[in-house]
Amino acid sequence: MNYFKNKVAVITGGGAGIGRELCCQLAKLGATVVVADIREDKAKKTAEQIKDHGGSAHYMRVDVSSESDVQHLIEDTVLQYSRIDYMFNNAGIAIGGDVRDLTMEQWKKVMDINWNGVLYGSTIAYRVMAQQGFGHIVNTASATGLMPQPGNTPYCASKHAVVGLSQSLRFEGADVGVKVSTICPGHVQTDIYKNMTVANVPNEKVVESLPIGAMKPSVAVDIILKGIIKNKDMIIFPDSVRWAWRIHRLFPALLKQAWLQKIRSIRRLKDGGVTR
Ligand code: NAD
Repeated sequence: MNYFKNKVAVITGGGAGIGRELCCQLAKLGATVVVADIREDKAKKTAEQIKDHGGSAHYMRVDVSSESDVQHLIEDTVLQYSRIDYMFNNAGIAIGGDVRDLTMEQWKKVMDINWNGVLYGSTIAYRVMAQQGFGHIVNTASATGLMPQPGNTPYCASKHAVVGLSQSLRFEGADVGVKVSTICPGHVQTDIYKNMTVANVPNEKVVESLPIGAMKPSVAVDIILKGIIKNKDMIIFPDSVRWAWRIHRLFPALLKQAWLQKIRSIRRLKDGGVTR
């Protein structure tokens, strides 16, 4: 697989989880990687690890919710390498809970990072790529960008927005040589859950309640890279997510109980454990 050799790839959220694994695997395949993360220490660690293994990488502290940070990231990449082949808009956070308990600040925070971050990264990279006549934008949504997720509504809304942007931009980009793919994973073993905020529920309870059997980031990234090589529109995994999505579209009533159980399970975790 030397598809990525000598390509220039920017990865937001490259300091941890799926983003970190993307950086490492792309560098192993010969790409030059720009590791961008709000946590400079983590971005630095990823870049240093890549360089220690003979790969090519540099890092930058970037807050994706800042348009000027993202603009600077892309301008600096083009200045250094004269091109940008891949823009992975991957950084994301999770904030959920019963909608009655969520503050507007929490809604704004999740939209600022998960939606505005992808909006800035997509549109700024798109202008550069359209001018180049080539490039691939890869936006990380989620299985929750395709289906409801009661109890995680702000996250779900942000990811639906990412799916809408990416699917439309894919057609706009087709005539100017720019590819766009959307990633919709189910559970992947990362710290996103440990760092997750669920309004009025202690984080330990959230982590304890998670289903077991999440996919390893290395397996997820292998699927993602294979999807990119095939220029897939939607990269959806694991198979259980593909099936749930199909059922949701064809027989939505079948999943009604599952969605109700999701919000009831969150309500049970709140003090008092009431399900209404
Ligand atoms: P993670 O928490 O392990 O890593 C996220 C990285 O993003 C961290 O390094 C963090 O510092 C960085 N980040 C957070 N806010 C940022 C900001 N404002 N600017 C720049 N960087 C920022 O999470 P992950 O599981 O690897 O998630 C990566 C992407 O995959 C996210 O968009 C997430 O929503 C999505 N996703 C994850 C799962 C899963 O089960 N892990 C499932 C579906 C979708």
